[in-house]
Amino acid sequence: MLPDYRVRQRDFLLEISRAMTAQLDLGEVLRLVLNASIVMLAGKMGIVALRDGNGFYRIRATIGIENERIPQLDHLLDEMVSLSDADADPEVLNTRLSKMAITLDRRLRQSLFLPLVIAGEPVGLLIVFRTYRMDATENDLQILQSFADQAAIAVHNAQLYARIDYERKRLAAILEYSADGVMILDAHLHIVGFNRALERMSGWLSQEALERNVDEVIVWKRVEKGDLRQALEEGWPFRTPATAPPEILYVEGDLLRRDGLTLSVGITYAPLLTADGHLSNIIANVRDITNFRQAQEMQNVFISTVSHELKTPVALIKGYAGTLNREDAAWDPQVIREGLTVIEDEADRLTELIENLLATSKLKAERMRLEMSDVRLDQLAAQVVERFRTQTQQHELVLNFPPDFPIIQGDETRLRQVLDNLVSNAIKYSPNGGMIEIGGGVDDETVTVFVRDQGVGIPEREQERLFERFYRVDDTLSRRTKGTGLGLYLARTIIEAHGGRIRVKSKPGQGSTFYFTLPQR
Ligand code: ADP
Repeated sequence: MLPDYRVRQRDFLLEISRAMTAQLDLGEVLRLVLNASIVMLAGKMGIVALRDGNGFYRIRATIGIENERIPQLDHLLDEMVSLSDADADPEVLNTRLSKMAITLDRRLRQSLFLPLVIAGEPVGLLIVFRTYRMDATENDLQILQSFADQAAIAVHNAQLYARIDYERKRLAAILEYSADGVMILDAHLHIVGFNRALERMSGWLSQEALERNVDEVIVWKRVEKGDLRQALEEGWPFRTPATAPPEILYVEGDLLRRDGLTLSVGITYAPLLTADGHLSNIIANVRDITNFRQAQEMQNVFISTVSHELKTPVALIKGYAGTLNREDAAWDPQVIREGLTVIEDEADRLTELIENLLATSKLKAERMRLEMSDVRLDQLAAQVVERFRTQTQQHELVLNFPPDFPIIQGDETRLRQVLDNLVSNAIKYSPNGGMIEIGGGVDDETVTVFVRDQGVGIPEREQERLFERFYRVDDTLSRRTKGTGLGLYLARTIIEAHGGRIRVKSKPGQGSTFYFTLPQR
C-alpha cells in the first residue's frame, strides 16, 4: 500500500497531466504546469522559460514574481543556458541558481531546476524556489521527472498548435490581401474562399459569392483558352505518372462582371488532393490581364504604324526622285525645286522617326547615358522654332523666355529631341492652326520650359498615360495623324534622366501645355 500522501500526489499528477494535454493554448499550459509544480514542491515562487528560435531561454510564465524583474531574470537565465545541458556541472548550475534566488528574495533557501526535454531536445525549463531546504527522495525525483516529461509534451503540443495557427492566419492574410484574385472551391465547385481583390475584379462581395457554385460567379463572356468543366469531365487533375504533382489548369478570356462590364482575366486552377489522391479543393488564382492585352494591342498597332510611317516617305522620295530623273522630260526649275523640297522634308521625317526608334530600342537595352555640357535652353528653343517655322504656315510660333535665362547642365542633343517632339506634337495636334508658344521660367534651383498650343487638348483621364511607350490617345485626330506614341515616352525618359519632371496641363478643345522642369546644376 502506498502511503496516503503518495496516492494523493499520484492522483494530482494524473489529473494535472490530463488537464495539460487537453489544453492547446500555450499561455494556459504554462500556467497549469507552473501551478502544479509550485503545489507539488510546496514552492514560494516559480518560473517557466522556453527556448526561442535563437536558443535563448525567455521567461514565459511566473508565480510570485513581479513583472518588472523579468528582464533581469532573463539575463541571469542567459548565463545559465550552456549549463542547462545534460552534461552541465551540477555544482556550477547550483551556484547560478542560488544567485538567482538571492536576487529574488533573501528568504529563499532552495531552488529546484527541471529541464523540459522532448526527444533529447531542450524546449524549456522550470525553476521552483522554496523558503526551506529539503532533500528529495528517489521516489520524489521519479515523480518530478515524469511530471516534467508530461509538461514538456504539453508545452510542445501547444507550441506546435500555436505555430500552425500562426501559419493559418498568415496564409489567410496573404490570400486576403493578395493583389491577385484568389478563390477556393470545394470538390463540388462551391466557393469556400473569396478574397478582396476578387471582390474588386468580379463585382461580387465575398459574403454573396461564398457557397455559390463557381459558374454563378465566374461567368465568361468569351473564353479564349481552357475550360474548367470540360477539364473535370476529362478527368482533370491528371497525374502522369501517378506520383507527379497534379497538373495546373489555365483558363483565359473576358469575364462578365456582376455589373455587366467585362474584364480580361487569366485564371490558374490548382488542385489540392487528399492523401488518397481525391480532389478536395481547387485554388483559383485570378489575374487581371487587361494591361497585358492593351500592351500587346499597342505593340501590334505600333508595328503597323511604324511600317506605314516608314513606307510613306520612302514611296514619296522614290516617286519624286524617279520623276525628276526621267530622261525624256525637261523639268522647269520651279518643278525641280518643289520635288526636291518634298524629298528633303520626307527625308527629315524619316530621320526623326528613325532617331526616335533607335533611342527607344536603346533605352530598353541600357539606362540612358547623358553627355553633359552647358546648355542654353532659350537658344536651343529658338533653333527648334526656326526649323519648324519652315514646315507650317498655319501656326504662329512664338518664343517667350525671360532675359538672362540661366545656362544649365544637360545633354544638348537629348534636350533638343525633347523640344523637337513637343513642338512637333503641338503642330500635329492643332490641325486648325493657332499660336504655339515656347517659353521658360526660373526658380531658385530649377528652370521650367513650356510648349503651349491652342489645339485639340487631351482629356484628363488620358493625361497620365501619354508618357507611356507606344501610347496614343484614341481619337479620330490621333488616328488620322501620323505618330508612333514614342515621342512623349522619350521626352519623359530624357527629362527624368536629367533629374527633372515633365507634365501636361490640358482641357479638351482648349489646347495643351507641356512643361518640363530641370535642375539648374
Ligand atoms: P505620337 O507619335 O503619337 O505623337 P507621342 O508620344 O508624341 O506620340 O504622343 C502620344 C499621344 O499624346 C499622341 O498620340 C496624342 O494623342 C497625344 N498628344 C501629344 N501631344 C499632344 C498635344 N500637344 N495636344 C494634344 N494631344 C497630344
